[in-house]
Amino acid sequence: MTVTLADILAAARTIRGQADATPFVPSPFMESRYGQPVWLKLELAQPIGAFKLRGALNAVAHLPPDAAGVTCCSTGNHGRGVAYAARARGLRAVVCMSELVPRAKVEGIRALGADIHIAGRSQDTAHAESQRLAREQNLVEISPFDDAHVIAGQGTIGLEMLAQVPELDTLLVPLSGGGLAAGIAAAAKAIKPEIRVIGVSMARGAAMQASLEAGHPVEVEEVESLADSLGGGIGLDNRLTFPMCRDLLDSVVQVEEADVYRALQTLYHEDRLIAEGACVVGLAAVQTGRVQLTGPTGTILTGRNLDMDIFTRVVTGQDVTLGDTVIEGRPYGA
Ligand SMILES: *Cc1c(COP(=O)(O)O)cnc(C)c1O
Repeated sequence: MTVTLADILAAARTIRGQADATPFVPSPFMESRYGQPVWLKLELAQPIGAFKLRGALNAVAHLPPDAAGVTCCSTGNHGRGVAYAARARGLRAVVCMSELVPRAKVEGIRALGADIHIAGRSQDTAHAESQRLAREQNLVEISPFDDAHVIAGQGTIGLEMLAQVPELDTLLVPLSGGGLAAGIAAAAKAIKPEIRVIGVSMARGAAMQASLEAGHPVEVEEVESLADSLGGGIGLDNRLTFPMCRDLLDSVVQVEEADVYRALQTLYHEDRLIAEGACVVGLAAVQTGRVQLTGPTGTILTGRNLDMDIFTRVVTGQDVTLGDTVIEGRPYGA
């Protein structure tokens, strides 16, 4: 089972006018520094502040007509997308999250009318809670990534990037559960087989990379990160995103917390954009030399549902404490 270009084109028709056509803007700073045009896909301009609305709208559009409502687990943005899409259809939504999800994200979801369940300290516990509710309350569960309609919805970003800038040579895709990377790679490689698609994860909690290296889905410890939207495992029962990422991604690289800190500063001070830590892992991979640019490059600024206190500390060069780790402050340009 996989997701094809036809599925992604169908998803594009389903979400048209609701979650598509985000801007794709050049970063003159990145081009001047690294020698190739770098384009930023502004998914942070979505109505819910993140790309996850694409997959959520497509999944909700395919619910059985008698569905009583939906449930999901989420690191924050999928829940927001599901809550928004369910409300638009007049359906009940329940969102299960771990205690690691930042309060700003939880409140954003509550404001969309969803019921909130906080369960444990990992995405896996939240997932178990969502499965229990699905059974007991006759709700349809929508996975944040391992769902064909969700993957096809996220893949529409790949269609748009190649339509907007056909000469793209490389795509740098933030990677967690892999719905985004699987969908974008499926779209991009079907249209332009020679394009390079690289997944970028956080070193703290790189579940997909560990799974690809092991040859099967494995669990990793979940920890606090500046890129909180990239937290969580890929599910030991993963059906779709693991094989798709294995078959479609050219490589997967990792960046560290300090690299994300610096990339957030660059994006703010040079491109004047405010984004979540998860957005800048692609830029961080270039800044740290883990990816060498070989032609016009696109990356996705996936969301802006961030904790403004932490963000303000980062862009003003102060220390940031995350659980038991301190990221040492450094003023921009120092
Ligand atoms: C969900 C999310 C990602 C990662 O997407 P996956 O499909 O889980 O790999 C990246 N950035 C943001 C802001 C997200 O919400």
